[in-house]
Amino acid sequence: MNKKNLIGIFGGTFDPIHYGHLRMALELQQCLHLQEVRFIPCQKPVHKKTVYATPEQRLHMLQLAISQQPTFLLDDREIKRITPSYMVLTLESLKKELGEASLCLILGIDAFAGLPNWHRWQEIFNLCHIIAVQRPDFTIPSSSQIASILQERQITDSHGLQNKPSGYVFLMKSTLLQISASDIRHQIANQKNPRYLLPDLVLEYIREQQIYLDA
Ligand code: ATP
Repeated sequence: MNKKNLIGIFGGTFDPIHYGHLRMALELQQCLHLQEVRFIPCQKPVHKKTVYATPEQRLHMLQLAISQQPTFLLDDREIKRITPSYMVLTLESLKKELGEASLCLILGIDAFAGLPNWHRWQEIFNLCHIIAVQRPDFTIPSSSQIASILQERQITDSHGLQNKPSGYVFLMKSTLLQISASDIRHQIANQKNPRYLLPDLVLEYIREQQIYLDA
């Protein structure tokens, strides 16, 4: 059987990108032997979360954050698209472009649990595998729809991801740094220094552009 190259797909608002995101992406890349991880900032979050930095600023912060890691790529397709950032559309366009490679969609386990609320969610399994990253404070309710999906699709050996193009779910443990973009924004708005929670270059840019002062 042909082994597939695996590509990690990491979506988010990244408002701003921080070390929690970066560390998790690197650990996943190493454990799962991902050829690359694509960071895909959304234009309009589907779940109506307020976004503070402009799309251009979020793109620029990502660029600064990943520039030293050649296997991390910035992908601006959701920012360029005018429609809401539905993941199924993003995956369809990536699939067209990347052909043979298997896409691995990286999601927090809490986001994975909400999958049945996503636009055309069932089609997502025809387009990618899902890597659901576990969190100590979250378990999937045993009688939920997502629990039966897990029963049907979960694999416990990550090497299996290379055997078919899409459709598996792999639960992954990762070092969870207790860092959130909202906490960083609050610190900045309250004149605190969030240094060491995010790359220095990103913090310098935030200060230069005066982002999050009113967040
Ligand atoms: P906010 O605090 O504004 O909600 P956030 O820090 O959760 O933002 P997002 O851009 O919404 O950042 O997150 C993108 C993805 O990164 C999501 O899948 C989320 O689960 C994951 N993520 C966020 N923070 C961490 C962290 N500290 N460690 C690992 N993954 C994280």
